[in-house]
Amino acid sequence: GPITTDMKTLTAEIEKFAKDKKIEIDTLKIREEYRKEFLGNVSHELKTPLFTVQGYIHTLLDGALQDKKVRKKYLQRAAKGVERLIYIIKDLDLITKLEIGELHLEIEEFDIIELIQNVFDLLEMKAAKMRISLVFDMEYTEPILVRADKEKIQQVLTNLLVNSIKYGHEDGTTEVSVENLIKNKVIVRVTDNGEGIAEQHLTRLFERFYRVDKSGSRREGGSGLGLAIVKHIIEAHNEKIYVESVVDVGSEFSFTLEKAVETEAT
Ligand code: ADP
Repeated sequence: GPITTDMKTLTAEIEKFAKDKKIEIDTLKIREEYRKEFLGNVSHELKTPLFTVQGYIHTLLDGALQDKKVRKKYLQRAAKGVERLIYIIKDLDLITKLEIGELHLEIEEFDIIELIQNVFDLLEMKAAKMRISLVFDMEYTEPILVRADKEKIQQVLTNLLVNSIKYGHEDGTTEVSVENLIKNKVIVRVTDNGEGIAEQHLTRLFERFYRVDKSGSRREGGSGLGLAIVKHIIEAHNEKIYVESVVDVGSEFSFTLEKAVETEAT
């Protein structure tokens, strides 16, 4: 059709679009605002690693390519920057799917203790590098069966543990525990003795792109989406997520899960 040139026509078109799609015009406006803000945040997140990679490529082109040692170092750093970009894009993809409700849960019964152990194994190297020990608060001999989307709960545990390593103090400890709650629920706690979070940030911590330390030295990796993803996944399960934290003492993130109903012997 013809290209819209004036605001009046544009508004009329938006209203018609909204009516056809049966969406309230206010909702549409909110969505538009939301989309703008999201895009702004996304380009901001991508800029930093992109500029880093660009910097290394330019340095190589400007002569560093001649030096065999320097060449390798810069190429490795550029590769790391690209890896970081891929990591951010994967998180963006996930949060988008979670936010538009496109990601369906695949509920199954599994042993939460085993899953925690798997995540520990996967993160052991990363933790050792930062001199953080990962510990289970007690000896679990019995499996604890829960009903949830295993892959997504693995993502939740990974994000929380990665954060506890990233924001932990050297020679610190991250403890994970599982406890029975009333009414077929368990609570999983991830507790660190790291830098902690000031109270005024706690309510906004789970918003996408929200960071306590906005300026300057951003911790390696991270998309600012980790906790937003965690919250979405837990809420999609109709479960709850909590945070408690004290600056310079540490943080505790905890979430609930539904226990698999034991079939009673007759
Ligand atoms: P990212 O780590 O990529 O910045 P997240 O959504 O995972 O994004 O976390 C948001 C912010 O919450 C972090 O930037 C950090 O300031 C704070 N944070 C998260 N976990 C912890 C923790 N265990 N200890 C201290 N601060 C934390």
